[in-house]
Amino acid sequence: MPEFDVDLFVIGAGSGGVRAARIAASYGARVTVAEEFRVGGTCVIRGCVPKKLMVYASRFADDFADAEGFGWTVQKPVFDWPTLIANKDREIARLEAAYTTTLERYKVNLVKERAVIEDRHTLRLASGAKVTAKTILVATGGRPYHGAAIAGIEHVISSNEVFHLKQQPRHIVIQGGGYIAVEFAGVFRGLGSEVTLVYRGENILRGFDDDLRAHLRSEMERRGIKIVTKQTVTAVEKVDHGYDVALSDNTQIMADLVMFATGRHPNVEGLGLEKVGVEFDARSGIDVDEHSRTCVENIYAVGDVTNRINLTPVAIREGHAFADTVFGKKPTKVDHTNVPSAVFSEPELGVIGLTEADAVKSLGKVDIYKTSFRPMKATLSGRDTRVFMKLVVDATTDRVVGCHIASPDAGEMIQLVAVAIRMGATKADFDATMAVHPTAAEELVTMREPAVRHTGSAAQ
Ligand code: NDP
Repeated sequence: MPEFDVDLFVIGAGSGGVRAARIAASYGARVTVAEEFRVGGTCVIRGCVPKKLMVYASRFADDFADAEGFGWTVQKPVFDWPTLIANKDREIARLEAAYTTTLERYKVNLVKERAVIEDRHTLRLASGAKVTAKTILVATGGRPYHGAAIAGIEHVISSNEVFHLKQQPRHIVIQGGGYIAVEFAGVFRGLGSEVTLVYRGENILRGFDDDLRAHLRSEMERRGIKIVTKQTVTAVEKVDHGYDVALSDNTQIMADLVMFATGRHPNVEGLGLEKVGVEFDARSGIDVDEHSRTCVENIYAVGDVTNRINLTPVAIREGHAFADTVFGKKPTKVDHTNVPSAVFSEPELGVIGLTEADAVKSLGKVDIYKTSFRPMKATLSGRDTRVFMKLVVDATTDRVVGCHIASPDAGEMIQLVAVAIRMGATKADFDATMAVHPTAAEELVTMREPAVRHTGSAAQ
């Protein structure tokens, strides 16, 4: 008789949990996964996937308008919100089923209920059943966080609800200046809503390269998105036909939908983690070592619940590395440096590595190459838009240490730039690479003169 009911019990069937379960099972482990909501987690159910489908929907507006300059006559296009939501829901249901099938194929036992940790080796399910496990993996993700309560907070939606609205808002106020806020500002504007984005700081996307932030802001404003900075929403009052939204400067905005995208918190509460001695870091994430192990020897955590880098591919890598390490006899660490990412704003952003400011601080001698140009398609469409690209180069080693792009398909471009940067490509390597003409990406290998040369010394 085995000592435990299962070798691995995973709490949470999101990207990290499912990958860990599947790989552990492929090594012969007996695995159970508990999921209290839907299989697939944030990314599949109410994150990256439905968001990207809505981004696609929103971009047709530009395509219809741009077609005219190329000789097309397009009747006034009509958009139907319920059709988009229904089609999107069908695709999400298909993906959820595919995730479930994958788990079944690997003989992973899926229990669709909440599980909490009773002691280091015991879990209790919502139904009351107990399961003992040799190893426990916590992969419970995160959830939207609204910040301090304000009057009328019950009227405010988050990114959980935005995917299920019965109708499209005429005017949406979005609070926040991060990934989710700028992405949904673009989605709703593209679909024809009026959009006001309220951000508490000087400029949106804090932590991104300053030139890129400035560029995105001006492009968003050019598209008609109203960006209000250095303000917060202080109250939301229900009135006839919508909401009266009060800002910290005592101004008011009328809107028929208010959404906060003010960050996410790890799902750590009520899981029994404190009881068994699992510790948390300063940002409330589960504290783990380089192998995703908590301070309790047989309990591990991956993905957003650890609050390291909250991106799906990172959670997947962490889940895979955990399974390789614990069940595959292949100790594997995830490298959290040089992680590329995209923001599906309008225009799209693709980024990797150091910003100019960070490079100057950490390296001192830094060359900056940047370009801003009108994309070829805009010549005939007449669209008033520009592409922006920047390379950050360590002037001592000539290595490219950062790349920041605002352009159609920037996410696709940065994926490939990331390979070069991870391999240690130098600016000379970029220069020696033949351009692909005519593309926007060719500018990445044709910038010759630094726009700025920082000659200082690195901070100690
Ligand atoms: P972010 O952390 O990216 O942004 C949160 C924003 O809310 C910031 O602008 C922050 O301001 C502001 N904020 C925080 N607290 C308050 C407050 N109390 N009052 C007013 N404003 C506040 O979080 P998101 O919710 O946008 O996204 C969560 C995470 O999900 C992202 O960080 C990312 O890791 C992931 N994600 C990735 C996507 C992608 O890869 N394309 C898409 C969507 C999400 P300040 O800057 O001043 O702190």
